[in-house]
Formats: sequence, structure tokens, C-alpha cells
Amino acid sequence: MSGSIVLFGPPGAGKGTQAGRIVDLTGKPQVSTGDMLRTAVKAGTKMGAEAKVYMDAGLLVPDSVIIGLIEERLTQSDAVNGVLFDGFPRTIPQAESLANIAVVESVISIEVPDDAIVERIVGRRMDPETGDIYHITFNPAPSEIESRLIQRKDDTEETVRARLEAYHTQTAPLATWYSERGLLISIDGNQPIDQVGDAVEDAVRTTMSV
Ligand code: ADP
Ligand code: ADP
Repeated sequence: MSGSIVLFGPPGAGKGTQAGRIVDLTGKPQVSTGDMLRTAVKAGTKMGAEAKVYMDAGLLVPDSVIIGLIEERLTQSDAVNGVLFDGFPRTIPQAESLANIAVVESVISIEVPDDAIVERIVGRRMDPETGDIYHITFNPAPSEIESRLIQRKDDTEETVRARLEAYHTQTAPLATWYSERGLLISIDGNQPIDQVGDAVEDAVRTTMSV
């Protein structure tokens, strides 16, 4: 199947954590707008500098910037058979733009209540060498790599509150939008990582004929 999959959910729902399983199952590349933006920030591009102001404040980066990034990414050859979108779309205008340039076959929504989100985000650690995602309590890294782990600058309690607010006002309405189009599958993300992964895998198998 050549359509794309959208991994949907609040910040800290576990989208990045589960993306690898879907990539392994479908062969579709992961396209994370958060990762693309962080790469641009690190590279010191003009767009990266502009985006950083929003990211540090826990606000959404303007749609025009995001849509430009996605349009460019989808011209790459590995995207011809569809991709796995992680953290995109996050607004209705982004979803409308996406509908004009790609076929979305399945939207997998990982649902986690706000009170669990804060602990997940504040305890999140990233391995800068592999991109692997860990959690100080829920998914501890092996001790030999512990010293190189980093914490994202926007993973503070204060910023996560702003990000949750942005999620509820600007992103959550997309669940209804996709549900009306018959594409939304909801999963309980408030269970251990492997169990969420099994549910995600089932959802992909039933909607994507893999
Ligand atoms: P997202 O990509 O949706 O922002 P992540 O995959 O980065 O979320 O996960 C956020 C944090 O929560 C990470 O520290 C991750 O290890 C942890 N996490 C992910 N899934 C679970 C889960 N099912 N239970 C507990 N912690 C989880
Ligand atoms: P998380 O899943 O933990 O919220 P991401 O890595 O997906 O984190 O995003 C980090 C930040 O990058 C967001 O808070 C936002 O500022 C920006 N961002 C990422 N994707 C988008 C998007 N599709 N639209 C607008 N802003 C985005």
C-alpha cells in the first residue's frame, strides 16, 4: 500500500517511542516535524532560528513553515510509497494542506490523560547518538550510555503546560476531523510501552494490509 500513516497524540503520548515498530512493519520512513525542526535549529538556519522562539515557548511553529518543510520532504525518493508522520499534522490547516499532497490511509491516535503527560515529558531523555528515547523511570537507558543522554530544553514542567494548552486548542480538534473521514483509530496510551506497541501494531495491520 502506498498511503501514509499519521501518528497522532499529545506531546509525550509515546509517538516517537512507537514509531520504530511501525517503520519495521511497513518499511515507511518516519517523518517527524519535531526532529526536522531540531535539526534546523542545530544547523543554525534562518528557519531554525525563527522556529526556536516558538519551540522554547511551547507554542506551535507557524503552519507556513511546517507545510514548506513537509512539501520538501515528500519530494524525496523514499517517500513515494507513503511515510509515517510523527507530530504532523497538528492543526486543521496542516491537515488540509497534507490532503492536497498525499494520501493518508490511517491515523493512529495514542490517548494519554494530561496528568500522566507531565511526568513523561519531564523524565524524558534522548540519546543524541542514536535518537533513541528513554525515560528516567519508565524506560531507563543502559548504564553505559547514561552519561551522554540529553534533556530537551522544552521538556520542563512550565513549557509542557503551554504545549498541552496548544494541543487541546489547536491539535485535538483534528481527531474529530479525521474521525469524520473514517480514518481515526484510538489506542489507550496509558499502559506499558510494549502493550501500547502491540495495540499500535494491530491498528496498522487492520488498516494498512501489511
Ligand atoms: P511523543 O513522541 O509522543 O512526544 P515520546 O515517545 O518521546 O512521546 O515519549 C515521551 C516520554 O514518555 C519518553 O520519555 C518515553 O520513554 C516515555 N513513554 C513513552 N511511552 C510510554 C508508556 N507507554 N508508558 C510510560 N512512559 C512512556
Ligand atoms: P512533542 O511530541 O514532545 O510535543 P515534538 O518534537 O513533536 O514534541 O515537537 C516539538 C516542538 O516543535 C513543538 O512544541 C512545536 O513547537 C514544534 N512542532 C513540531 N511539529 C510541529 C507541527 N506539526 N506544527 C507546529 N509546530 C510543530
